[in-house]
Amino acid sequence: MPHPYTLPMDSEMPTRASDYFGSLTFSGDVMLKRLPPDVFMNLQQTMDRGLALDPSIANTVAAAIKEWAIEHGATHYCHWFQPLTGLTAEKHDAFLSPTGDGGALEKFSGDALIQGEPDASSFPSGGIRDTYEARGYTAWDATSPVFLLRGQDGQMTLCIPTAFVSWTGEALDKKTPLLRSIEAVTKHALRIVRFLGDQKTAYVVATLGCEQEYFLIDRDLFLERLDLVVCGRTLIGTAPPKGQQLEDHYFGAIPQAVLAYMTECEQRLFELGIPVKTRHNEVAPGQYELAPTFEISNVAVDHQMTTMHILRSVAHRHGFECLLHEKPFAGVNGSGKHNNWSLSTNTGVNLLDPRDDTHSNMQFLLFLAAVIRAIDLHADLLRASIASAHNDHRLGANEAPPAIMSIYLGEMLTGILDQLERGESKNSSKGGSAAAAMDLGARTLPQIPRHSSDRNRTSPFAFTGNKFEFRAVGSSQSVAWPNTVLNTIVAESLDVIASELEKRAGKNPTPAKLEATVRALLKDLVATHRRVCFDGNGYSAEWHAEAAKRGLPNFPTTADALPALATKKAEKLFAAYGVLSQRELHARWEIQMEQYCKIVQIEGRTLTQMVATQILPAALRAQGELADVVASTQHAGVPCPESEAALRSLVKQVAMLRTSAEELATATAKDVANTVGRVHHFRNLVVPAMDKVRTCCDALERVVPSDLWPLPDYATMLLVR
Ligand code: ADP
Ligand code: MG
Repeated sequence: MPHPYTLPMDSEMPTRASDYFGSLTFSGDVMLKRLPPDVFMNLQQTMDRGLALDPSIANTVAAAIKEWAIEHGATHYCHWFQPLTGLTAEKHDAFLSPTGDGGALEKFSGDALIQGEPDASSFPSGGIRDTYEARGYTAWDATSPVFLLRGQDGQMTLCIPTAFVSWTGEALDKKTPLLRSIEAVTKHALRIVRFLGDQKTAYVVATLGCEQEYFLIDRDLFLERLDLVVCGRTLIGTAPPKGQQLEDHYFGAIPQAVLAYMTECEQRLFELGIPVKTRHNEVAPGQYELAPTFEISNVAVDHQMTTMHILRSVAHRHGFECLLHEKPFAGVNGSGKHNNWSLSTNTGVNLLDPRDDTHSNMQFLLFLAAVIRAIDLHADLLRASIASAHNDHRLGANEAPPAIMSIYLGEMLTGILDQLERGESKNSSKGGSAAAAMDLGARTLPQIPRHSSDRNRTSPFAFTGNKFEFRAVGSSQSVAWPNTVLNTIVAESLDVIASELEKRAGKNPTPAKLEATVRALLKDLVATHRRVCFDGNGYSAEWHAEAAKRGLPNFPTTADALPALATKKAEKLFAAYGVLSQRELHARWEIQMEQYCKIVQIEGRTLTQMVATQILPAALRAQGELADVVASTQHAGVPCPESEAALRSLVKQVAMLRTSAEELATATAKDVANTVGRVHHFRNLVVPAMDKVRTCCDALERVVPSDLWPLPDYATMLLVR
């Protein structure tokens, strides 16, 4: 009889997903059943409100978690954290401890739950930790439920979501600043809510739902390509005769083998309490998407990391490789991660829903204006938060939003901004337009359909009816950092707006005074910051020209984008809201810079090796075969000028490949001492050198006999199912 919790196969899973949803998390019912009532209440409050754990309940909670985990077959526990590699990390410890008399007991104390001390000195710290002070500590983020991670053969590991900090308390991870940024944005959001007279809302939360795009390819083909194995993307490969031009894959019937894979992923995610909702084929052949229902932001970030892990690991069991890279294949769409973000009260009122009749139009418009102001003033930081060597292949490539950060609002809200800017009140406006009937005090804006969800996919930051959708985020990236930046810049806006309102309106303003104050402030905000709003085609050349005229920053590559993190302005902002100290911010800048260089360097080396050991030998074999044909026709006295021309052309192509591969090898190996210089070197010399090699290889792929070509081609990888 197998252990009931070891790898239930599809047939063994309860048929109703709701029967096993969250069964591998220590939350909700499990907590209620296993904890004394007072401890349960205390922990539930901690989780709901994002508070620190009360140490006095730690031992009781730890004992209950241990029993629950062991009953489910867990042998080990780990503090699960998110170092600056952008991945997750775990160091496992066994529950088993010797008792000293030859026996052993399973042990797990409150201390082990709350704090860990993985050595973990090899993670990038951007200079925060030198090896002599290498200690890093992990601390439980009790707002995110503890969960059991299932190994391939059913091994269960208890995972405790933790923050990771140095012994001096500096953040060495992505979670710590995220939590701080959530605190900042929700604190200042509450001030606005209070200013408008709401005393009932206890607290505000940030909400997040991330749509994940990915490619699935046959794992055997994947293993045949060094570029995919090492870099996660194809460095060469000529476009197949058929790509995505027929648009026959998008939302098409999901292939059976893929559906089986998706179903298992969903089961694994449901067990972990991850509410995945949507699945469909994406635009490119072989590309798919998965989206959850939104959750509280930091839980959503943890769940997003786990989702990526599950997508990758389950693929192997189905003979697939899941590619999360932003641009695995040239010539077809790359993958992104739409980051849907909003703010909500503790009672679930969405502060960015114009149709929610629990709050006034004023409230919605103030939050809207705060976001517009934030993006206008800090577009550079938002851009930097998604900058990577991977995303450089996608942004601005007419398949993803441009590198210019702008906001899509839609016709209705744009009309309302016009009206606010003109300072019209409902009495002074004429005409019958919907916007003209706007009433700041009323409880819903007229005629905004709840799902005025735009289909303008060219906008990097779009208002989609009741939330903002940041669409420039990369598919393989952790969403912790973009959300940290987003929360911080909006926190600053809300702070400035709240302070201004409090100052202008004074204590206990009359309703008329309050509305006049809000109206006047909105007018100023709209006039100053609406230049960042743009509803047109973001892919067009006209927009690039127009954006330049408006003074909006355009940072096409990572090398252009990252300096924004190394400015006094950024330092002041992150420090003012307690999100990152100067040193912590600098460390992040440095790591993002270094990661860019390392990624491009690895790609350069991989391509050099593939050319030397696979492409050149194949081309030379083809050249040899052709030379034999030419020699034999000449020998037979039947000269064949076409074969001779083909041979001459091939010899030339091979020579070009040799030269460009040598240039690439030299550029990749060059040692540049300082970080900024290195980033520029890789962007200016190595990336173009790789492009040149690729052009040569792709041209050869079109003429070398397919039985000599050493790599699976695009058609085989993308079109065969
Ligand atoms: P789309 O038109 O982009 O497909 P959906 O309505 O399907 O829009 O939502 C996409 C994502 O946005 C989902 O993950 C959803 O849960 C999330 N979402 C919806 N409302 C909110 C909200 N208030 N805050 C954060 N995310 C949200
Ligand atoms: Mg979307």
